[in-house]
Amino acid sequence: MALNLKRPNGTEDITPANIHKWYTVEQVARSVAQSYGFREIRIPTFENTELFQRSVGETTDVVQKEMYTVMAKETKFTLRPEGTAGTIRAMLQNGLLNEALPQKVFYLLSCFRHERPQAGRLREFHQFGLEMAGSAEPVADAEVISLAKAVLDTLGLKGIQLYINSIGCPTCRAEYHKALRAYFEARKDQLCDTCLSRLEKNPMRILDCKSPICGELGKDAPVILDYLCEDCKTHFEKLQGYLKAMDIDFSINPKIVRGLDYYTKTVFEFVTTDIGAQGTVCGGGRYDGLIEELGGQHQPALGFAMGIERLLLTMESQGCDFLEPNHCDLYIATMDPEGVSRAMQYANLLRQEGFWVEYDLLGRSFKSQMKYADKIGTSYLLVLGENELTTGNANLKNMKTGEQTPLLLDDSFVDSFTNVAMYGMFDGVMDEISF
Ligand code: ATP
Ligand code: MG
Repeated sequence: MALNLKRPNGTEDITPANIHKWYTVEQVARSVAQSYGFREIRIPTFENTELFQRSVGETTDVVQKEMYTVMAKETKFTLRPEGTAGTIRAMLQNGLLNEALPQKVFYLLSCFRHERPQAGRLREFHQFGLEMAGSAEPVADAEVISLAKAVLDTLGLKGIQLYINSIGCPTCRAEYHKALRAYFEARKDQLCDTCLSRLEKNPMRILDCKSPICGELGKDAPVILDYLCEDCKTHFEKLQGYLKAMDIDFSINPKIVRGLDYYTKTVFEFVTTDIGAQGTVCGGGRYDGLIEELGGQHQPALGFAMGIERLLLTMESQGCDFLEPNHCDLYIATMDPEGVSRAMQYANLLRQEGFWVEYDLLGRSFKSQMKYADKIGTSYLLVLGENELTTGNANLKNMKTGEQTPLLLDDSFVDSFTNVAMYGMFDGVMDEISF
């Protein structure tokens, strides 16, 4: 049998040519989250399977169809399909909830779901997400939504619609479930098999079914907003007030139920129309019951997760700016062993200052070294030939302009190079114009 050495379906390689795009999103996400007081958390890639069954919910697509579960010896593990369960588990296990509240953490991680791969839908994908625990107040919902919006805005994304909904609490949901059950019971013969089994246990899941027939049936189903209890209604109204106060545009979409069972009250999505059918770049909401469900003391909480691949697709389609890719600052061309050892010394000194410096590692001819320097797009070129080494006088060539600047090969070398590279001028000139 032929070896299959290709990457698995639904996975992607992130090559060096594209890494600056990822750095852009990661850097913006980190700095915006930190500006709201969120601290980074890192959790294991796999957890005990029960953790996800318990939190994400037995009747969700994720648990029923999409988890990557492995038996390792006698223990069953699951590759995380999302970040919330593991993060809350970690917050509990490390006693974060005994510290000052609210506790606010963010993460950048990969998730694994066995879905049908398509544009914006992968089997291994990446999320920037965060969780806030300890506040039941709608001002916290507004804070988290405003953080998500700040990330999207800072990335330069435009026209991303925010949809919000409330899916109530267990009290009001009981009434709603009755109404939903009655509605779908009357249309039972048209439901898909999965939804039939959801009818008793969790009829709200039918509204999230990806089958077109169930989707069509769900269109005229009763909406949760008509069943909210006073507490949930007030919460939802206050949230809208805060969003308006912050000038954050939103629409209410009573059909948003989210694909994970742990949500209560507020749910929200940021959606773009620029990348086709998988346009939800961010999904989140409140999950007031989850911490207790996972063995902690009752503690209200909320969060969101953004799909990084979908963010990047949208940024590309909108022509957003990315951080400049790094490139070589200086290539030192050499002609003999004496040149190589001097190149090593200078390279190391400049590297300590943070410059990207290279010299020949392949025993190449001078001509091929020039070709290589050109290929890697070095900003400056320094030739260390016999003449330069003997006289101690070299020339630094600006590869963009062709301009040559004389440089002494002595103790002033690092400072002189730094000045030319950073300011395009010489020490002497700098002294004249400094204040
Ligand atoms: P969808 O409705 O698109 O299936 P979801 O409700 O399953 O999304 P969440 O579990 O809320 O998504 O995950 C949060 C975000 O992670 C999504 O909004 C999306 O941007 C991203 N995401 C989810 N699943 C995938 C996937 N298979 N591939 C790429 N990104 C994904
Ligand atoms: Mg999904």
